[in-house]
Amino acid sequence: MVSVSMGHNADKKQVVTIGMDVLDCPVCFEPFKPPIFQCSVGHFICSSCCNKLNKCPGCSRTSFEHCLGMERIVESAVVPCTYAEHGCTNKIAYFNKKSHEQACSYEPCFCPDSGCGFSGSVATLWKHFTTQHKWPSTEFKYYTPFDLRVKPGAHFLRAGDGQLFVMNMVSVEPVGHGVSLVCIQPNTSESSFRCNVVFSSFTGHHQISTLESVRCSSLSDGLPKNYFCIVPKSLVVALPITIDTKLVLEVEDEQEEEEDDDDYDEDEDEDDESDDEDGN
Ligand SMILES: [Zn+2]
Ligand SMILES: [Zn+2]
Ligand SMILES: [Zn+2]
Ligand SMILES: [Zn+2]
Repeated sequence: MVSVSMGHNADKKQVVTIGMDVLDCPVCFEPFKPPIFQCSVGHFICSSCCNKLNKCPGCSRTSFEHCLGMERIVESAVVPCTYAEHGCTNKIAYFNKKSHEQACSYEPCFCPDSGCGFSGSVATLWKHFTTQHKWPSTEFKYYTPFDLRVKPGAHFLRAGDGQLFVMNMVSVEPVGHGVSLVCIQPNTSESSFRCNVVFSSFTGHHQISTLESVRCSSLSDGLPKNYFCIVPKSLVVALPITIDTKLVLEVEDEQEEEEDDDDYDEDEDEDDESDDEDGN
């Protein structure tokens, strides 16, 4: 079902029911998107198919022309986002539906418990994990180390900005525990998170394992299992972990630089006084 605006008044809208195949190219089955062409009889064809074919697949006529009428129809055919029930209020042109949904922030993520079947936004997942399953969870700040107990299983993490992560530890016999981490995010775009894990090695030295780019996952394939480091058994009980975000890093750097410049000009005299005190 689509809502199509018709008539002189473009704001006037009514919900109509049409067969959705009318809005798809009969050759490639992709939604029609301007520019749209038609043969001299009126068979519609999308521009990329029109460029590839030298005759109409419906009637073999060889001339095509631009079809403004069909363009108006597809431009006004508006559909709700598939993730409307998860909170997306966007109304999208039907031909933009796929690209919108690939980037829609309301696309749900999944509970990794195979018998559970719960899916929802990141915010509802956190509540689900901590109240329904009572799984181990920790709230943390970017750049601030926090400790996690070393034991097999999933540990859910929530950053100050609401972003969720899951750290999964699996037993790697006979060495220790394999540690994997993903950012719980529906759209598998480039990750802007980095994670450091510090632990003591057998020689007593501290070892740092860094995961440069934390992978994103909707957890539709369950908990992460590709560990990026192995924590030696028996040596470690609590694991200091730091998660950083490149996004925050960049923004904060810029702001601080600007603020520093301003402060320097205005407060130069006061700064001099405090410098003297420090020196004594
Ligand atoms: Zn086509
Ligand atoms: Zn034709
Ligand atoms: Zn959406
Ligand atoms: Zn669940």
